[in-house]
Amino acid sequence: MGDVIKLLPDHVANQIAAGEVVQRPASVVKELLENAIDAGAQQIQLIVKEAGKTLIQVVDDGKGMGTTDARMSFERHATSKIEKAEDLFALQTKGFRGEALASIAAIAHVEMNTRPEGEELGTRLVVEGSKVVSQESAVVPKGTSIQVKNLFFNIPARRNFLKSNQVELRHITDEFHRVALVHPNINFRFYHNGSELFHLPVSNIRQRIVNIFGTKTNEKLVPVTEDTHVVNISGFINKPEFARKSRGEQFFFVNDRFIKSSYLNHAVSAAFEGLLKSDTFPGYFLFLEVDPGSVDINIHPTKTEVKFDDEHSIYAIIRAAVKHSLGQFQVAPVLDFEHDENLQTPYGYKDKSAVLPKVTVDAGFNPFAEEPPKMATTKTASASGGGFSTYKPERAPDWQSLYVGLDQATPEVLEGITIESETLTGSIFEEKEEETVKGTTFQLRRKYIVTTIKSGMVIIDQGRAHQRVLYEKFLKNITVQQGVSQQLLFPIELEFTLSEIGILESLRESMEKTGFVFGAFDAGKLELVGLPPLASEQSVPELFEGLLASFREGIPHDGFSQADVFAKQLGKSLAVRTGEVLDEASQMALVHDLFACKEPQLSPFNKTVYITLSEGDIDKKFM
Ligand code: ADP
Ligand code: MG
Repeated sequence: MGDVIKLLPDHVANQIAAGEVVQRPASVVKELLENAIDAGAQQIQLIVKEAGKTLIQVVDDGKGMGTTDARMSFERHATSKIEKAEDLFALQTKGFRGEALASIAAIAHVEMNTRPEGEELGTRLVVEGSKVVSQESAVVPKGTSIQVKNLFFNIPARRNFLKSNQVELRHITDEFHRVALVHPNINFRFYHNGSELFHLPVSNIRQRIVNIFGTKTNEKLVPVTEDTHVVNISGFINKPEFARKSRGEQFFFVNDRFIKSSYLNHAVSAAFEGLLKSDTFPGYFLFLEVDPGSVDINIHPTKTEVKFDDEHSIYAIIRAAVKHSLGQFQVAPVLDFEHDENLQTPYGYKDKSAVLPKVTVDAGFNPFAEEPPKMATTKTASASGGGFSTYKPERAPDWQSLYVGLDQATPEVLEGITIESETLTGSIFEEKEEETVKGTTFQLRRKYIVTTIKSGMVIIDQGRAHQRVLYEKFLKNITVQQGVSQQLLFPIELEFTLSEIGILESLRESMEKTGFVFGAFDAGKLELVGLPPLASEQSVPELFEGLLASFREGIPHDGFSQADVFAKQLGKSLAVRTGEVLDEASQMALVHDLFACKEPQLSPFNKTVYITLSEGDIDKKFM
């Protein structure tokens, strides 16, 4: 028997490889866009006709290729991106297999025009079915333009297998989104059959998402950030009420590469647990950064599947980060590991507590009257400087759907903690006003508020508690709904240096959302014409000093941490201090506001806000 094993001719090998790399027009789009990015392009145009069946063209202004490289780029396993196997573990580029152009040229008519910077003439190269048809010098713009025509012209079975233009265009658009989302610093344009589908100018990532998915997207987005030594996570999740019936807006990127991972998707879904209507999926845009050596992107030819060394940790971190964001932005209760879950506040409580912070006194109470006692006067805490009662937790109507089912009728019931608020009962003795209000709280050494709960007592640090209340309120103002403002009779004028005004300028939006209203806004003269109701005029200078101090080291770039730092600082400046006397109504209001918070047990600076003493604890002391 003669020898039967032969080496496949290159064009056949290329065709076979093409079957793996190029499944449909969208695959070509992906490869060409990635090459343009690897070439350092600032501007990329994608031009498509008939869903890519007749033309796919990508034009970039990247580094271009010299004549030899242009020719080489169509060879199989020809790549400028890696030299040795180890390079695979420190990849900075999208491509590395050196297969894409060879594969595409094996199954289509390809024309490349390319010129590196500094060279006068460029190269025009035409390749059809792996054969170089022509090569010439040409006057072409700097960068590279590759046209791919008549895809699968020589594989009719494949061509017939393509779906309708509508479906193929959707695949192309998906690929375009995946690439454009990780490169907001590149200007993209996408044309189909002569009309512009997308123009994405250079922007930040949030703006890029909005430019792709529409202006309505902006209000849906909740930022996520988490830095750990295993993975850094940034990006956004969609608020649960915007969850969709399809998995459309679910994006994971690892080191700027779109990936699919049902495992990590599960981590996000787990964080959303209980917040979604059935059969809906959360939207997310999550960017993971890991050590390139700890991830293998080489396991799939089109590289959308990856393998992490430490998948379990990444799962846990993603889940915690998403949960944290949902909580931070009051989208869901936070169940943090270190915290006692029993002390969590059900969210429904927030809606109801609006009625609680007032302590009412019936001065004209007559126990012998037939009618049940009427609440005659209302005493609020605002006069006492505590300012709690002006804060009534409120919630935009569309958020409420999340919390239905929590019983409206039992506002005092917190999980594990029940505030014993006593109802006024008739008494046959005349009582002084103070005594009529049954004391359920008292202040200890002008520092702690003590109150009883069903199981014993709670001792609350008044300053920290108020910081928590204010912090959550301001954070909500900044991120969810605007705060109200109180007009000042006389504007407050302040003077700042140029660099200080620069810092304040970047905080301006957050400040305005919490209720600050500015007149002039210059270094020489900064004018305040309105304040949030909780800020007194006297507190303003100290407040600004504190703000400038905490932002002087640099303003966090992302809106999330900036809002967070700002809300913390504002809360700290405006909260009551140790040593301040609080009247009973203020104490009560503070207690209720605190337990309406999402994370009442910790101050914004992570200090313990209250401790509980159970009856059992107390009993033990008497043994
Ligand atoms: P890979 O991207 O895996 O290296 P390709 O077949 O996609 O393989 O590309 C082969 C080579 O051609 C690349 O390594 C690169 O050097 C060059 N190349 C491809 N497209 C471009 C482009 N748009 N601009 C500059 N160089 C390019
Ligand atoms: Mg490539």
